[in-house]
Amino acid sequence: MSVTVRFAPSPTGRLHIGNARTALINWLYAKANGGRFILRFDDTDTERSREEYVEAIRADLAWLGIVPDEEARQTHRLSRYDEAAEKLKKAARLYPAYETAEELERKRMRQRARRLPPVYDRAALQLSDEDKAALEAEGRQPHWRFLLESEPVAWEDGVRGHQTIDMSSLSDPVLIRENGTFLYTFTSIVDDIDMGVTHIIRGEDHVTNTGVQIGIFRALGVEAPRFAHHNLLVDAKGEALSKRLGSLSIQGLREAGYEPQAVAALAVLIGTSLPVEPVRDISELAEHFDLSAISRSPARFDPAELDGLNARTVHGYSYRDVMGRLAVMGADGGETLWDAVSQNLGKLGDAGYWCATVTGTDIPPLPEDIDLTGDDRTYLKAALAALPPEPWDGETWKAWTDGLKQATGRKGRGLFMPLRVALTGRSSGPEMAALLPLIGNSRTADRLRAHAA
Ligand code: GLU
Repeated sequence: MSVTVRFAPSPTGRLHIGNARTALINWLYAKANGGRFILRFDDTDTERSREEYVEAIRADLAWLGIVPDEEARQTHRLSRYDEAAEKLKKAARLYPAYETAEELERKRMRQRARRLPPVYDRAALQLSDEDKAALEAEGRQPHWRFLLESEPVAWEDGVRGHQTIDMSSLSDPVLIRENGTFLYTFTSIVDDIDMGVTHIIRGEDHVTNTGVQIGIFRALGVEAPRFAHHNLLVDAKGEALSKRLGSLSIQGLREAGYEPQAVAALAVLIGTSLPVEPVRDISELAEHFDLSAISRSPARFDPAELDGLNARTVHGYSYRDVMGRLAVMGADGGETLWDAVSQNLGKLGDAGYWCATVTGTDIPPLPEDIDLTGDDRTYLKAALAALPPEPWDGETWKAWTDGLKQATGRKGRGLFMPLRVALTGRSSGPEMAALLPLIGNSRTADRLRAHAA
């Protein structure tokens, strides 16, 4: 059987790392099985859907490395939903109901008072044609509910194993609103049938929906596809990540300078039994990833873990991998510079600082938390006087500081730190032995002189 999966965002906001997880898991499943990945915009809620989000979602997926095999939009398929709804109406599985929101709320209050579950009582099924005509003459428009079966619905979930939903605890779901617009619960099924979707892989917030939707598949005369519900991402406090968390939007992460493979790898690998390791390309994940690796408990997103994974991703780049990007950033100082600084970068963008510092002629200001004492300044003068003649190489730093140690009696931090901050403007960073020959005699002398004064 050829595999077809879909990622079906509603374009009502930007993607965050939790949505990206769903998209990536689907995409990897398609890759691993030689299948198709459809990007489908569930845009029937015309009041909240925005074209700018359609474009933003496409761009965010592309940045993550996901190229859909096909794209679809629900608003282009409205006539298909009408046809399918007619079919359900003829089979008496879709029925009109006229209660207002207030009337429904009153019913629920009465049920709660009697300690009954707040399930819709199907009063609308008792309405005669005359009743309906009278209600419509009052100006009421019906919403349409799907008549659920009473037997429990069960399926073998690709992540959660055997699942059963007790349908008697659910209200018949509304599939068509009073204003005639469809709810995604329904349109999604029509699409999944028409597009030949074989696996519906989505977050576990949809488990109850699945009970309802399997019923809709059956009512339309089609066997439901396989379902798999992955765990959801939670923040450090265990709370759900919501679309409002701007900093964890894919756009926010991109703008903060994270590598797409690091974001993608973390989004997929947290909350699984697999180790969180850097990848060069997200398709590598398809080789290891399996739905059965997803754990049942929530996946805890820790920003520090993303920082660590991002740094390891950057450390894995050779100069050839990044020279084009460095050039665009104005941070291409050549291969030797890359080799000197790359293992100290948290983000690729940090290379800009080191390139400017090593190749520029400005005197780097001291870091804010560092003050040089009068003694340190005298020491910098001595260091300036002791600068070895060029050519400099990887041994120069050691020779220079060994000499200073003997001459001044300084050691450890007192020996190295004033030199590091004067030459680089930072109290930590790449090996000075590698940086010194790149900074060179003239810049080194200028900086020592400036900070000694
Ligand atoms: N538009 C729905 C959502 O974003 C799709 C759910 C599904 O994948 O079926 O929640």
